[in-house]
Amino acid sequence: MSSFDPNRRTFVRARGTELVDSMGKTTFDAVSSIWTTIHGHCHPYITEAIGRQAGILDHATALGATNPVAEELAQRLCERSGLSHVFFASDGASAVEAALKMALQFWQNAGHAERQRFVHLHCSYHGDTVGAMSVSDIAVFRDRFAPFCFETIAFERFEDVIARPDIAAVIVEPLVQAAAGMRVVPVERYRSLAAPMAPLLIVDEVATGFGRTGTFFATEQTGMKPDLLCIGKGLSGGALALSATLATTRVYEAFSSSPSELRHFFHGHSYAANPIACAAALASLELFEREQTLAHVASLAQHLAVLLAQLRDDPRIAQVRHLGLMSAIEIVPERFPSARSTPTPAWNVADAMYERGHFTRPLGNAIQLVPPLSSSTAELDSFVEALVASLP
Ligand code: PMP
Repeated sequence: MSSFDPNRRTFVRARGTELVDSMGKTTFDAVSSIWTTIHGHCHPYITEAIGRQAGILDHATALGATNPVAEELAQRLCERSGLSHVFFASDGASAVEAALKMALQFWQNAGHAERQRFVHLHCSYHGDTVGAMSVSDIAVFRDRFAPFCFETIAFERFEDVIARPDIAAVIVEPLVQAAAGMRVVPVERYRSLAAPMAPLLIVDEVATGFGRTGTFFATEQTGMKPDLLCIGKGLSGGALALSATLATTRVYEAFSSSPSELRHFFHGHSYAANPIACAAALASLELFEREQTLAHVASLAQHLAVLLAQLRDDPRIAQVRHLGLMSAIEIVPERFPSARSTPTPAWNVADAMYERGHFTRPLGNAIQLVPPLSSSTAELDSFVEALVASLP
């Protein structure tokens, strides 16, 4: 906060792919407001659905109750994912937290309480709450809070995981580890997890879901069959906080019993299945069909690949990573004489890009470009031009 200038990045309005700040400056939202915005900001189809639903049923608890909008959304999500039950929450971390707790209790209910350990990938990130943090592997987010965190195992070899009798679940981000700087993990890493195994498989599509890697879910490219699937961010199209943990029938049924057996899931959030957020999500799903969003993503991703390839020989750039519309350009920090008012060299670049009309947020030394799926090729061209002009 000591270097935060409220004259920049105090956003007061948005439309399509653009944000407008309090000084009247318009910028391209090159990070989709941290990977949430799908069809563009304030899309009339979504804002109308929100307004309509707000006048019918604003909120009603989902604890021991339900509402038709959430029911319809659950149905649609099951059709899309191949899973069969949906547990709603608000943020991605809450969806992950619920998945971890479900996995632990699944094994208790199944008579295998010894299965308590969680396996995660190297460089993983699953959110900032205690459970999600425990299965995360990025030091800056986790180390300070290590006393809170439970012990986990970093995934090395599939054979080691299946051999151990104490593993409750393996949790993975499919194909792209976004918070690690759009780290693209080779698909082979996931192939072994597509084979049958005793531990449950939790797939975290909070960042990768809803078309960002080219397919609706990144999991579709891996052959994995998750027992639990976490979604959030783009679920509502990016308009409202909504997340969900999807489960298979096998997982769901392990929790059903007579009330006195207490096998059910003691977990719930006040705004779970909020009807307005669910209406936004239904409208967003419809837009995928109406606007042929995935076809647009395919051509945009191809264009982006060509654009980024041109950067590879630039001595100021250490590495370029991308899959679909998730990309990061790692700069060479040594080329910066000293950080000016901003905390890191990458922030210097991001600030210079802001002046040129592009809002991005560095991840370490990486400048990220994760644009709304509705972006144009001209906007991507302009981003890359601004990046090259902003490098020292
Ligand atoms: N999982 C992944 C893969 C994420 O990238 C994130 C957030 N960046 C989360 C979970 C947490 O989501 P939220 O910020 O909505 O809590």
